[in-house]
Amino acid sequence: MGTAVKQLPDVQYPLSEVQSFDTLALHAGAVADPTTGALLTPIYQTTTYRQEAVGKDKGFTYSRSANPTVSALERRLAALEGAEFCTCYATGLAATTVLALALLRAGDHVVVSQAVYGGTVRLFNQVLAPFGVTAEFVDTSDEAALRSAVSAKPTRFVFIETPANPTLKLTDIELAARIAHDAATLLVVDNTLLTPALQRPFELHADVVLHSTTKFIEGHNATVGGALITSDPELQERFSFTRNAIGAIQSPFPAWLTLQGVKTVGLRMAQHSENALRIARFLETHPRVTRLLYPGLESFPQFELARKQQTAGGALIAFEIEGGVDAGIRLMNSVQLCALAENLGSAETLITHPASMTHADVPIVQREAAGITDSLVRLSVGLEDPVDVIRDLSQALAQTKGAE
Ligand code: PLP
Repeated sequence: MGTAVKQLPDVQYPLSEVQSFDTLALHAGAVADPTTGALLTPIYQTTTYRQEAVGKDKGFTYSRSANPTVSALERRLAALEGAEFCTCYATGLAATTVLALALLRAGDHVVVSQAVYGGTVRLFNQVLAPFGVTAEFVDTSDEAALRSAVSAKPTRFVFIETPANPTLKLTDIELAARIAHDAATLLVVDNTLLTPALQRPFELHADVVLHSTTKFIEGHNATVGGALITSDPELQERFSFTRNAIGAIQSPFPAWLTLQGVKTVGLRMAQHSENALRIARFLETHPRVTRLLYPGLESFPQFELARKQQTAGGALIAFEIEGGVDAGIRLMNSVQLCALAENLGSAETLITHPASMTHADVPIVQREAAGITDSLVRLSVGLEDPVDVIRDLSQALAQTKGAE
């Protein structure tokens, strides 16, 4: 099939003995510069590579197939998820596109969580459907619904996002893997919202993990990127072939920025979760808040499942306020420290209106079925002192009075 990505050895540090997540986040995949000794993996900003002789190269031939900086990031992300292989992409959606093009043919069928990132829905419904691929959106938190979906029709893969963006609904990964494997199909987990610092899909028997590295993996609102991770060499070969064939690889500079950002992912996810819990507790008791969803709170409908498969609640909070859509819009227009912005997972706190922003292309019926109401507000809690975020939310909530 051509261009297999070679998983080059770690040059910088002998990591075979290292198991600790935080140490791997700093060292896995790093490449020491042989000429200068530079500690950081260089940005190999090159299109091509001089070959020693025809058919004799050093593992890299052209940067659409593979690039040493991107490969360093791939080794690190594979190590952090506890897997063998990784391929990185220009964006998270490029990763989902390669997943689909690598595994699906006309007439194939997939089952996808009903609550997922809006771009994933748009990709299946508006881009892949015309090529004869069908996607059924199912409440994957419902065991019977998932079992009946995969047994009703041959299914090429089950794609879950847990927690789901933006409702935070959880799917039991271990159970979904069992159901998928009983039906002889694959389980793909979008682990973007928690990262391997808080959730370990491969230990729960997932076959492929997908990331929008744009979010917590890079963590600083500086890049867009994506990743597909697996321990199956055949899947890796297909992803790598398809990535080269369609030209979806990440560029060296965003890969390098991601190599820096991911160093602190363990620390950041712990702090994001601690800050989000404090802010969720504040919002939960606020008289203007009518509904609040945060997996780290005892009141969360799937709190027990969150405790089983996550090590903390994560950064995202979803809530509704009195006064419905108008009040929500007034809130989002009134924040000063929090930024009204698309994206999540950054050091800065971001506030979003999913119905008109991230999930605007999801058909209304599907939005409603997934619980994405027009008045739902999504908060991606950052790393500011939560006292300051609470002060900002307090003043913005006060301005929503009278918007009923
Ligand atoms: N998966 C999830 C859970 C997301 O939230 C997003 C983007 O918001 C994506 C995938 C797509 O990633 P990208 O925006 O990097 O293409």
